[in-house]
Parts: sequence; C-alpha cells; structure tokens
Amino acid sequence: MVPRLHLFDLDGTLIYGSAAPVEISRQLGLVEEITELERAFAARKMDPSDFALRVRELWVDLTESHVAAAFDGAPWVAGIREVWSEIRASGDYCAVVSLSPGFFVERLLGWGAHAAHGSRWPSPPFREPVDPAGILSAAAKVRIADELCSRFGVSRADCVAYGDSLSDAELFSVLPVSVAVNADHHVRDLASHAYTGRDLREAYELVCAPR
Ligand SMILES: [Mg+2]
Repeated sequence: MVPRLHLFDLDGTLIYGSAAPVEISRQLGLVEEITELERAFAARKMDPSDFALRVRELWVDLTESHVAAAFDGAPWVAGIREVWSEIRASGDYCAVVSLSPGFFVERLLGWGAHAAHGSRWPSPPFREPVDPAGILSAAAKVRIADELCSRFGVSRADCVAYGDSLSDAELFSVLPVSVAVNADHHVRDLASHAYTGRDLREAYELVCAPR
C-alpha cells in the first residue's frame, strides 16, 4: 500500500480560531496591534512579506520564552498528537506547512510531525531584519508539498491537506483529497471534506475510511 502524506495548516486549523502571530503578540500585550494587521492581511491589503515586515516591527522585544509561552498557551484543537501518532503507526507521513514563523512552526516536530515548514525568520531576540525572500506565500505551500512528496516518495494523489482559509486554496485545488477545517468560503467549496469542531481526530476520521 502506498503511504499517504497528511499536510496540515497551522493557523485556524491546528490552532482553533487564532494564529501563531496572534498568540505570540498576546504574550507581548500587542493583541490590538496584531489584530489590525491580521485584518489587513485577510482583506488582501498586504502580502505575506509586507505582513511579516510589519509584524517584525511589532516584535522588537520578543524572546524565546515569549514564543514558548505562546506555544504552550495557544488554543490547539484536541487530539493533534494522537492523530499524528496514528498516522505514523499506519506508515503514513504528517507535515505542517504554514506561512507563520518557522521558529514557532518547527516546535511541532516535538509533537510528532515528520516535517514542519514555516516562513524563515531570524531567531528571537531579533538582531537582523526579516528577509522577504524567506516569507512563504500560498503558492509556496504547493511547492513545499511537492518537495515533501519527493522526500517521502509519494505523489499529489497520495496527499491529504487540512486547512481553513485563503492560503490553503491553491494547495486544495491541486490535491484530490482535502479537509476544510473550520473553514471560510475561500476553501470550503474546494475541499473534498469539511469539518467543524475542535477535535482533530474527528477531522482525520473523515479521510481514514477503509483503504
Ligand atoms: Mg490557516
């Protein structure tokens, strides 16, 4: 049996109703400021690299311990580690691909993801600027998915994507199987499955039917 590659979005998908930049900003007392930037980004008034440059300005005082507290306190959906351990046990692969900073996304390797890709940021506390070339876009999600397919020896047809919004639309449109998790209108109609709730085990069940 050919293994499958499960590709998870982070913000709004694994993190319920929130996003890594919001949770990090919360630790710095900057929720209002990040909410405004998130809104402009969602309204497509900013591209991902403009967004990152503005966020970098907000996070001048960011330290590793803020990031750790943001990770620990984020409103994760339930069952992430359980689903990933089931995926591993069945011989499948699981990866997280997110536009959010790599220094947050990569923490999910500790929860059992085979791979975790985020935008390339300097490590906090920041001494360098953010390089716009390292900031991921929706199109980059497709490129990274293809790279992961080669790495794990599977094809797009063997992938399952889980996502909630516009940044997942391109990926959903090139994969036969996808789960819209607590999704907005941008991806709901593109996905083959839809899940609303707070338990990843239930979303995973939709696509782990008899093989
Ligand atoms: Mg998302």
